[in-house]
Amino acid sequence: MIANKTDTFSNLGLSSELISTLEDLGYTKPTPIQSASIPLALTGRDILGCAQTGTGKTASYALPIIDILSSGKSKARMPRGLVITPTRELAEQVSENFNIFAKNFSLSYGLLIGGIPFNEQNKILNKGVDIIISTPGRLLDHVDRGNVLLNSIKILVIDEADRMLDMGFIPDVESINLMIPKIRQTLFFSATMSNEIRKIGGKFVINPKIIEVTPPSSTSKFIDQKLIFSKKSDKLKNLFSIIKNLNFESLVIFCNKKSDVKRLSLKKIFNQHKVVILHGDML
Ligand code: AMP
Repeated sequence: MIANKTDTFSNLGLSSELISTLEDLGYTKPTPIQSASIPLALTGRDILGCAQTGTGKTASYALPIIDILSSGKSKARMPRGLVITPTRELAEQVSENFNIFAKNFSLSYGLLIGGIPFNEQNKILNKGVDIIISTPGRLLDHVDRGNVLLNSIKILVIDEADRMLDMGFIPDVESINLMIPKIRQTLFFSATMSNEIRKIGGKFVINPKIIEVTPPSSTSKFIDQKLIFSKKSDKLKNLFSIIKNLNFESLVIFCNKKSDVKRLSLKKIFNQHKVVILHGDML
């Protein structure tokens, strides 16, 4: 069999420092999105990537960004890289990834998300950060306060654009886009690539390479699955009969509304169990 030349990280054009970090992390082989996007990103090309979380997409943009930006230094309040994510949680994950991948580099990062005092984030910006990882609202707040200038951005990543659209953040991302130099590199990722997302993506990228990877199977081989069709009025009865016949130590039930979560947790069937409810207090 002829080996694919993008089957190893060393064939993708990454620096030896990054390759050694990836070895330490136990990453033996690039994922398909990494094989496709890392060499292109390293040449400065714009990318419209369709990849879900779990495909290794964070490394597919973080690794080339680290190598590209490693040769310079940012001035105070003037970052050179910007990653915009729809949620705080994703921004935190991305920032952790940058910290891990760039342990052998002297790059600095700023995580700008809500729920953390502006002062703390401002101190970090004042010291000078090379890369900002942020949600759109908090970034615009910092821009409005004059805490950060975006006119030195060389690489922009828009991550999970479809969620950005669902959450109504595209106008904020468009405002941010207007503050960034037109000549820069843009890596635009979305878990789905509908016509609408493609059209939105087109506003941010120039002559992009379109990369689509098939999502990995998300089902663990240790999980048996069953699909039960049920009338709405029979749903609880059917659920309870399944639970009664299950021999379980612990059980997770997902509902689509917080009211359903609460209602279900109070049912008699759970009386002899310790029940914890979790929801984001949204609906
Ligand atoms: P992501 O899709 O970026 O959220 O990555 C999903 C998970 O896969 C994370 O835990 C990464 O650390 C891990 N990962 C990413 N790329 C690789 C790789 N090439 N080999 C092994 N694990 C990886």
